[in-house]
Amino acid sequence: MRLTGRGAPLELTELELPPPRAHQILIAVEACGVCRTDLHVLDGELPDIHCPLTLGHEVVGRVLAAGCDARFQRGARVGVPWLAHTCGVCRYCRAGRENLCVAACFTGYTRDGGYAQQMLADARYCLPLSEGPAAELAPLLCAGLIGYRAYRAAGDGATLGLYGFGAAAHLLAQLARSEGRRVFAFTRPDDGAAQRFALELGAVWAGGSDQPPPEPLDAAILFAPVGALVPAALAAVHPGGRVVCAGIHMSDVPAFPYRLLWGERQVSSVANLTRRDGEEFMALAARLKLTARVQTFALADANLALERLRSGALTGAAVLEMAASAAVAGPSARP
Ligand SMILES: [Zn+2]
Ligand SMILES: [Zn+2]
Repeated sequence: MRLTGRGAPLELTELELPPPRAHQILIAVEACGVCRTDLHVLDGELPDIHCPLTLGHEVVGRVLAAGCDARFQRGARVGVPWLAHTCGVCRYCRAGRENLCVAACFTGYTRDGGYAQQMLADARYCLPLSEGPAAELAPLLCAGLIGYRAYRAAGDGATLGLYGFGAAAHLLAQLARSEGRRVFAFTRPDDGAAQRFALELGAVWAGGSDQPPPEPLDAAILFAPVGALVPAALAAVHPGGRVVCAGIHMSDVPAFPYRLLWGERQVSSVANLTRRDGEEFMALAARLKLTARVQTFALADANLALERLRSGALTGAAVLEMAASAAVAGPSARP
């Protein structure tokens, strides 16, 4: 399903992929999550978008063919996250901050992604994945993983606000609860379904983003791409509290009185991921048995899945599920 121009519906297209080069793997995609970032790419809200382009950076699949230097074998279960390549030599790469690499490539943005039956990826940036339902693993690869980076950036306070209770927040709520932290969920005003979903996953309070929490919070993470939530979240945290913006794009942050920032409150953003984040988070997710609540769509229904995400009509995460292919067998079927 290819993006051919800004704002255009994705189009079903047939493409022949070249054989994988040295570090590359050709992957039979089993499932690909639908992320808010895909909407930002579709809407042309990120710089340097070159069409035609295949979206999708929460990819679960199996290796069909591997280049001579690739670190996965045919049949291996792999995940393809957002970070697709880094230069290895810039100041950020050398400092262990490859998420900020000046020449990074990104899956489903500067490289073709997983809204497809097959894709090519650099195996050095892919993650080994366990068996288990592909659709339920897919949201871990961005919502979970980059959500986790934001979660760490929010510090270890006892009370945590989550603004926007979608794919990322519903995974983090499970993680926070397992660590004994109290989660306060903020949804679109009057979104009773999302508020009930948050309470079901262990949030101690759920309300509209236009409401103050019942007590001041230690930290808040913003998943909704709404700049006006920055001052709202600052008003909701204690002195010394942190507000972390986890999305890649937001509407403008409105002017706000300095007293909201006063008291050593902090605002920061989280950008991309490192490979280390990926390994850490996937191990943690397996240990805690984090489960994604998903709504699955056929590949050809990608436009519908994106529309549902845009309108807030989803509970949990949207995932495209590819029709099973007989072309590749799992490790157990190999001689
Ligand atoms: Zn670099
Ligand atoms: Zn994403």
